[in-house]
Amino acid sequence: MNDSNFDYDLFVIGTGPGGEGAAMQCAKNGMRVGVAERYRQIGGGCTHWGTIPSKALRYAITSTMTALKNPALREMGITTTPTLEQLRRGTESIIGQQVTMRQSFYDRNNVPVYHGQARFVDDHSVSIDGDEPIRAKHFVIATGSRPFRPANVDFKHPRIFESDTVLGMKEKPTSMCVYGAGVIGVEYASMFRNLGIKVNLINTRGKLLEFLDDEIIDAISYHLRDQGVVIRHNETLESIEGGPDGVVLELKSGKRVKSDVLLWANGRSGNTDDLGLENLEVVANNRGQIQVDEHFQSVVPHIYAVGDVIGVPSLASAAYTQGRAAGMHILGQADGNLRLHDIPTGIYTSPEISSVGKTERELTESCIPYEVGQAQFKSLARAQITGQTTGMLKLLFHRDTLEILGVHCFGANASEIVHIGQAIMSQPGGQNTVTYFVETTFNYPTMAEAYRVAALNGLNRLF
Ligand SMILES: Cc1cc2nc3c(=O)[nH]c(=O)nc-3n(C[C@H](O)[C@H](O)[C@H](O)COP(=O)(O)OP(=O)(O)OC[C@H]3O[C@@H](n4cnc5c(N)ncnc54)[C@H](O)[C@@H]3O)c2cc1C
Repeated sequence: MNDSNFDYDLFVIGTGPGGEGAAMQCAKNGMRVGVAERYRQIGGGCTHWGTIPSKALRYAITSTMTALKNPALREMGITTTPTLEQLRRGTESIIGQQVTMRQSFYDRNNVPVYHGQARFVDDHSVSIDGDEPIRAKHFVIATGSRPFRPANVDFKHPRIFESDTVLGMKEKPTSMCVYGAGVIGVEYASMFRNLGIKVNLINTRGKLLEFLDDEIIDAISYHLRDQGVVIRHNETLESIEGGPDGVVLELKSGKRVKSDVLLWANGRSGNTDDLGLENLEVVANNRGQIQVDEHFQSVVPHIYAVGDVIGVPSLASAAYTQGRAAGMHILGQADGNLRLHDIPTGIYTSPEISSVGKTERELTESCIPYEVGQAQFKSLARAQITGQTTGMLKLLFHRDTLEILGVHCFGANASEIVHIGQAIMSQPGGQNTVTYFVETTFNYPTMAEAYRVAALNGLNRLF
């Protein structure tokens, strides 16, 4: 397998989940693998300015604010307001743990990490920070993405942030405007509202998170509004003006919104500039993304691309699976067992949202006869005990074959709960059936019980 004409069998650019998945898959199967990383630590945007810091901060905010709302603490006279600095402190230690653990994967598998900017010199060599080129037989580009920064927004202004810079915000503002209501915008709107900040969420589309099931969209819209988030749909930016005491957002509809700070959360660009693509036949689109085929091969077949740099779904979870799939293809192994089209959605708002499979809208459009089974969290003993009664599990299943077609959930721990349904949904040969949930004994009291309640509810509708 090893080819002495090359320094490496595989060279990976980027150490986020996409790069790590590819590097480990090939290193563990005997390939000589090297990786490049331009940030001072490995782990990618996922570990340093995306998934991990945002989810760690969310946990710090929700757990602290829940504790502070406890009437017993109030009675004891504890009414402190945590600073952003205090809430962020735990985040740094979690990032540290992640880096140490992930670095050990590279060390244990003898994968050297070259620190610096990797640029292609030709289609078999990269140079790190202009050093002597490294030659490899295959490449995986896993360089991630960054917030799209339009030229007419002054990101140097101290009150204007995007998702990479917002985590470094020094003072807790009284009000915030979030422009863009995709997953990142909605998650941050929800998180900052939980911290007591007045939030305006400006959506450029007609609904929040349009790819979700309509009932879940209605639920998240209701709960965000109920918590005090002001949502504006179908808006388009006219201008953003940063001043000494706030930021004024002017919309084409004529509305003007003033807030202490603005978070820009509208679109992302693939990290392909300064990668030396001009020395290859690979061309990035106007969003900096690389087009690949079903094996993650670019137009140059030995150069693969995975993760955010290829566009949607732009999730750490998907990037890792794609990296492993590219690695398997390079190794000449089948990637058919990786279920690349079965990517769940996990959205860490309050309440949390998670889903997998088809929505009611998609099934109706395709004329598939389905039935719906629902379980309200408020009717589950476990939810009553923990006080987390907001939420619902919804199963969509074929009314003739009883095959589960979609699982949609919102409420506490939705992103965990969905995986039970996903496991049954992916069973082959007629074993994907909603009857599993009525024939199975669930621990009591658990949130998992929602599956039995939902399945019975749906089966009772059949005639
Ligand atoms: C605020 C926020 C919250 C998110 N929350 C979630 C979530 O809850 N769940 C989820 O699944 N996903 C989430 N995501 C998305 C997730 O972080 C990304 O999908 C994931 O990080 C993509 O992985 P990747 O390997 O493609 O790229 P990245 O993790 O971005 O890693 C790319 C790496 O490549 C390096 N690099 C780039 N160019 C070069 C070069 N030329 N030479 C050397 N190194 C280079 C970069 O420094 C970086 O370390 C979130 C994203 C954001 C911004």
